[in-house]
Amino acid sequence: MVPPALLGGYLHPGHRRRRYRNYRQVVKEEVNVLTTAPRGTRDILSPEVEKWQYLEDKIRQHCHRYAYSEIRTPIFEHTELFQRSVGETTDIVQKEMYTFQDRGDRLLTLRPEATASTVRAYLENRLYAQPQPVKLYYIGPMFRYDRPQAGRYRQFYQFGIEVIGSQDPSVDAEVILLAVHLFADLGLRDLEVHLNSIGCPQCRSAYRQELRAYLKGHLGKLCPDCRARYEQNPLRVLDCKKEHCRQVAGQAPELSSYLCQECREHFAAVQEYLESLDVKYQLNPNLVRGLDYYTKTVFEIVSRELGAQAAICGGGRYDGLVEECGGQPTPGIGFALGIERLLLALDKGGIELPGREPLDVFLAALGSKVQAPALKLLYQMRQHKLRADKDYLGRSLKAQMKYADKKEARYVVILGEEELERRMVLIREMATGKQEEVPLEQAVEIILEKMGGVADGK
Ligand code: AMP
Repeated sequence: MVPPALLGGYLHPGHRRRRYRNYRQVVKEEVNVLTTAPRGTRDILSPEVEKWQYLEDKIRQHCHRYAYSEIRTPIFEHTELFQRSVGETTDIVQKEMYTFQDRGDRLLTLRPEATASTVRAYLENRLYAQPQPVKLYYIGPMFRYDRPQAGRYRQFYQFGIEVIGSQDPSVDAEVILLAVHLFADLGLRDLEVHLNSIGCPQCRSAYRQELRAYLKGHLGKLCPDCRARYEQNPLRVLDCKKEHCRQVAGQAPELSSYLCQECREHFAAVQEYLESLDVKYQLNPNLVRGLDYYTKTVFEIVSRELGAQAAICGGGRYDGLVEECGGQPTPGIGFALGIERLLLALDKGGIELPGREPLDVFLAALGSKVQAPALKLLYQMRQHKLRADKDYLGRSLKAQMKYADKKEARYVVILGEEELERRMVLIREMATGKQEEVPLEQAVEIILEKMGGVADGK
């Protein structure tokens, strides 16, 4: 019998048989499913997680300086939000969403990206009534049913920013600058900023017709996906990565010659600002981005070193999105940056982020009688912001010293029953092997002194 839990989710009628087959597979692979994370997801453990934390701190510092405030939106939203905003014909909506029906029959989707959620939150929380533009950033997991490979996961993390409420081209330049500034600060140099303008719906519709007419003569050379795109969303043919499609796209009419005057002026101003900021970029007429809501400026920041998954950051303007979601016409722009890909690029660039921090103090407490005073001493150390730990397995002194060494402790404080009776402890500096006996009550103070007055207490 199929357990009710497996039938609880949203089930497209056509999927019932497959789901049942999967259930049988689940039973067969029981050992694996209990000890293996779902495909395309993974755990982030120390010492890698410390690198994530470092990166997140850096991101927060940059956002703070550029005057963005954080927004935390739900992990899931109404499915329709993504269908309407990201677009029905996009790969994300057609193939990649994790959609389910909850027990109240609502159709919900794990967010595949966060711009739609941010715009929904802008409307729901009446952020339009605040001084404009509203500048927001987020860091969090996104979900796409994509084919996993290096740099591509089904649960991945994005840092993104959104500026809603200004169409000024200086905002476009500053949004790009924030990403470039962050990369430079992290020491990443060999990145390329690719820039394009895909115009407004008016100029794009004239272009779409021209493009379709051109593609019609080359349909035979396009991949099956692009043949479908020719009907539904011909612009997407321009950024297909398949060689034959790229050849066809390379000869296609260029969107830039179809931009209306306003879009042309806006794009020229963005470029002027970027030049005045010394941000190097290259125009890429084939850059259209995979989401429907973009207008005018679009950009990607790519690292040649990352191979197939070269894009670290992508973004653009979405001047029609707030209105599409039911608000007043309101311009917006933003980007999303893949944290895993950024870490990969740092790694390939030989840039080592700070990893796990060593212990300040390891307390070697020996014997059951000393455990209570040892816990108290540890607590005092931690109150003084020292990073301190002890043994919890009743190890011998020798084993505890070995453990302290593994944890790279700077000092080991030894407290045995005999020391306790005399109210003394032994402090050993691990780097030099120097030891001294000091009064128990002064131990914390003396360690702090040895460490230069203050623990950094991060
Ligand atoms: P997008 O929302 O598709 O424009 O993606 C923005 C950024 O998110 C990309 O440039 C990648 O760095 C990252 N990204 C997108 N999809 C994935 C994925 N499946 N796995 C890892 N990172 C991703």
